[in-house]
Amino acid sequence: MATTTLNGRPYIHKNCDTMVSLAKSDTEWLANPWWSVTGTVCPECGIADLNQCVWEDTGEDLASFRKRMARETPSQNRLICLWILPILGAILGYLVSNFIPVTEECMAPLIYPIGGIFIGAAIPRLGLAPFLIPILNGRNYSSIK
Ligand SMILES: [Zn+2]
Repeated sequence: MATTTLNGRPYIHKNCDTMVSLAKSDTEWLANPWWSVTGTVCPECGIADLNQCVWEDTGEDLASFRKRMARETPSQNRLICLWILPILGAILGYLVSNFIPVTEECMAPLIYPIGGIFIGAAIPRLGLAPFLIPILNGRNYSSIK
């Protein structure tokens, strides 16, 4: 059993029984369900699925933990961060796209407003929500068992 020691919350990759400790900031990223994370890295095996890794202290697998954290997020915080801000971003993206000059070479001028809507919605959903939701909740996912 290999062991790495850092100040984050350690987890165990069940496939090889390796305990992995992360930096505290990496623990926050891994535990925060609003970051799009599909796996982690085991120093012995490489890419590891979240459901193959369990917290060393509780034994809960990381995929279940992240689902539980998402469920326990107050609905008003989810509504603000996952719907209201992305919708406002989509509207802003659409409005900004109207200032992009459409050239004659552009075969599909609709690509700008559609792109503006998607980018405007994605920035708050993928870039802001992972920071904003823990602030609104008043807690760090890395410190929750
Ligand atoms: Zn492993």
